[in-house]
Amino acid sequence: MKQYSKDDILTVRITDMDDAGCGIGKDEDGFTLFVKDAVVGDTVKVKIMKAKKNFAFARLSEVIEPSPERVIPPCPNARACGGCQLQALDYAAQLRFKAGKVRNNLMRIGGFDEEFLDAVFEEPIGMEEPFGYRNKAQYPVGRDRKTGEIIAGFYAGRTHDIVPCLSCMLGPSEYEGILRAIIGYMNAKAIEPYSETTGKGLVRHILIRKGFRTGEIMVCLIVNTKSSDKRVVSVFDGLGEVLGIHSLSLNFNDRNTNVIMGDETVCIFGSPVIHDSINGVMFEISPRSFYQVNPIQVERLYGKAVEYAALSGDETVWDLYCGIGTISLSMAGSASKVYGVEVVPEAIEDARKNAVANGISNAEFMVGKAEEVLPEFYRDKAADGMCHPDVIVVDPPRKGCDEVCLDTMLRMSPSRIVYVSCDSATLARDLKILSDGGYRIEKVCPVDMFPQTVHVETVCLLVLRNDVTHINID
Ligand code: SAH
Repeated sequence: MKQYSKDDILTVRITDMDDAGCGIGKDEDGFTLFVKDAVVGDTVKVKIMKAKKNFAFARLSEVIEPSPERVIPPCPNARACGGCQLQALDYAAQLRFKAGKVRNNLMRIGGFDEEFLDAVFEEPIGMEEPFGYRNKAQYPVGRDRKTGEIIAGFYAGRTHDIVPCLSCMLGPSEYEGILRAIIGYMNAKAIEPYSETTGKGLVRHILIRKGFRTGEIMVCLIVNTKSSDKRVVSVFDGLGEVLGIHSLSLNFNDRNTNVIMGDETVCIFGSPVIHDSINGVMFEISPRSFYQVNPIQVERLYGKAVEYAALSGDETVWDLYCGIGTISLSMAGSASKVYGVEVVPEAIEDARKNAVANGISNAEFMVGKAEEVLPEFYRDKAADGMCHPDVIVVDPPRKGCDEVCLDTMLRMSPSRIVYVSCDSATLARDLKILSDGGYRIEKVCPVDMFPQTVHVETVCLLVLRNDVTHINID
């Protein structure tokens, strides 16, 4: 096999893409090249950056023959920013890429065969308008190294150099005007942006969130001072009116850290929260609370979860990893009782408030780890025969479900399990365990919550096989 070294130049055809959206090509000897920014179907000229024995990472220097699926990225910053790994791929091809990624993981890690997957896979749910969908954006603020002007934008790949960019195409178009107005205000009032090198300057980040259904916009400025610094509030006098927004707050972070937000927030204009609704349920959003970033697709994602749960009104439903209760509250109307479990106490407080605000009284929320709360409940209630939930919904973080949690789910033997996943590799691992434990995978549906990026959400329906009895009181 031919050996390559740094700076070698060669031409290669891209025949595949890895999970991170990097193009993969092989030379005539089967030596593998990973080429960032190249898409499947391209023939490209590349320069080797780092060569190993059997593979190398290369930089795209020229597209010699573009793939029929290649498009011109509409954002001029697409390559520098790196947030949108798939912007050069036609949207229909992005959806195929994502469905393929889920399928491959289910085959490779889950051990499910192709024919079976063909039968259970549904068409991926994409967006009609795959830009402008993100309701939340945060921009670092600083001074341009060359011109000295105040800028906001994104960090250039792996550095903390700010590339000015006020119009991220994934966010709503109003955000640009808001950023310009804030920068204008800072210039007029001589408010200094933060500098990571000196640790001086006031404004570190600008966070903007919008309730798409209500139109309410929230701005939170992350400032480099302590909450006891009372003068800082007057520095921003009148800014809320200038911006014409619903809520303006300051979040205090004077630590030398990569973590964007500090622990304390104070509202200095308008309301401390904004609202948004998902499938008719209203949610309150504060600057620090977790809220799904794609409000359009989240309705479809939960719609799919509700469809798979097939509730008639009599069921007991568990929503594990429930966050602020978005799935629990979406299902409460068609269930007899919903239990939500979540490890972050503030999220549970929000979930309870959201239930009350929506007049929902059949949802109960518990703070704790799913793998601890569920077995405890099972131990207490199994003996009373009260432990047969009809449906368990899980929506775990990337690392998937804990084994103890999966094991308890199997013992509780709900008729249906709806698995919502943001990582198809851990999904595949967990589906294998559930399927070996007596469940049949009935449906799998990829949902595109993050167009232009490589991320994909998947909803999966599992049904208890009728040849297994799991009620196992020990
Ligand atoms: N279903 C919610 C949140 C999903 S994100 C929504 O769609 O909005 C996953 C959630 O799991 C996060 O809120 C995280 O705090 C929580 N979490 C992480 N580990 C957990 C565990 N071991 N037990 C319970 N919740 C956990």
